[in-house]
Amino acid sequence: MKKLIVAAALGLSCAAAWSQQVNVICSVQAEWCNMLATVYARTTGVKVNMSLKGSGEALAQLLAEKENPKTDVWFGGTGDPHLQAAEQGLTLEYKSASLPQLHDWAQQQAKQAGYKTVGIYSGPLGFGYNPELLAKRKLQAPKAWSDLLKPEYKGDIQVANPASSGTAYTMIATLVQLMGEDKAFDYLKGLHRNVSQYTRSGTAPIKAVARGETAVSISFVHDGPQERMAGFPIETVTPAEGTGAEIGSMSIIKGARNLEAAKKFYEFCLTPGAQELAAAAKQYQLPSNKAAKVDANVPDFKKIRLINYDYAKYGASAERKRLIARWEKEVNSLP
Ligand code: PLP
Repeated sequence: MKKLIVAAALGLSCAAAWSQQVNVICSVQAEWCNMLATVYARTTGVKVNMSLKGSGEALAQLLAEKENPKTDVWFGGTGDPHLQAAEQGLTLEYKSASLPQLHDWAQQQAKQAGYKTVGIYSGPLGFGYNPELLAKRKLQAPKAWSDLLKPEYKGDIQVANPASSGTAYTMIATLVQLMGEDKAFDYLKGLHRNVSQYTRSGTAPIKAVARGETAVSISFVHDGPQERMAGFPIETVTPAEGTGAEIGSMSIIKGARNLEAAKKFYEFCLTPGAQELAAAAKQYQLPSNKAAKVDANVPDFKKIRLINYDYAKYGASAERKRLIARWEKEVNSLP
């Protein structure tokens, strides 16, 4: 009974304290979204209504609610759909005083969107694999994009669907830049023979690998350490031919109902302290604020063969739509 009274009192005081709120679509993993909401609410008294959506799904929702926006801030997810949102007039130009504290790649992301988005983290695309499952099936660990076409991986690769997932769109854009478009689509058709399923979310495949449901995933490699720490057998690798990196981004929504609260939350997310919450939530992207501590689990970019990803080109609406439509027509329609 005593417990109930205390809970009721706490509930009341919380409700009274929510003088402000901010509505956020969060396109990173749940642990990080929840940590951000809890810490922000505790330190400011502002309620954060978090809705979790993959990058492509978030963009689709923002487009659907364009005339009557219900979202104030879009936090995280791959940069390409944020650039597309900027181009489509869904997000608000906002120049933070913290911009000079950010790495060049994060400032560049803001500049090329007319300051309608900003880079908050970066992470390289690669493969996750389950060494125990591979050993059981007498398979080698993949080291290169070309390895994933080997017939012995048939039915053992998972990747997300590029329409809903920014991770999978990053894969398509990376392959097009690495191989040229027609060769990249030949590659994707070959890969299709080995893919068991295209998941909605970009992080589902690496979780499936960790749990032994599939041997290999195409994933951001910064998602590996969390699974390993949870005790799952998982390794990550970046492909020998080269790979792309995302610039995870954040945008304020045009027509946001809680604009002042949105700006404050956005500013908070650019601070070193807020960016270090990622590692506290076991998320190991490279933070965009140069003063944020870089956790030892963050991939070492100097050791990765990165392509010179053309964010402006592949973040353009027409290009993203065209490539996804080509993938639907030529790849996803195959048996
Ligand atoms: N989770 C993490 C940790 C990410 O870095 C990203 C990309 O920014 C996402 C999720 C995006 O997920 P999806 O591919 O479903 O858009």
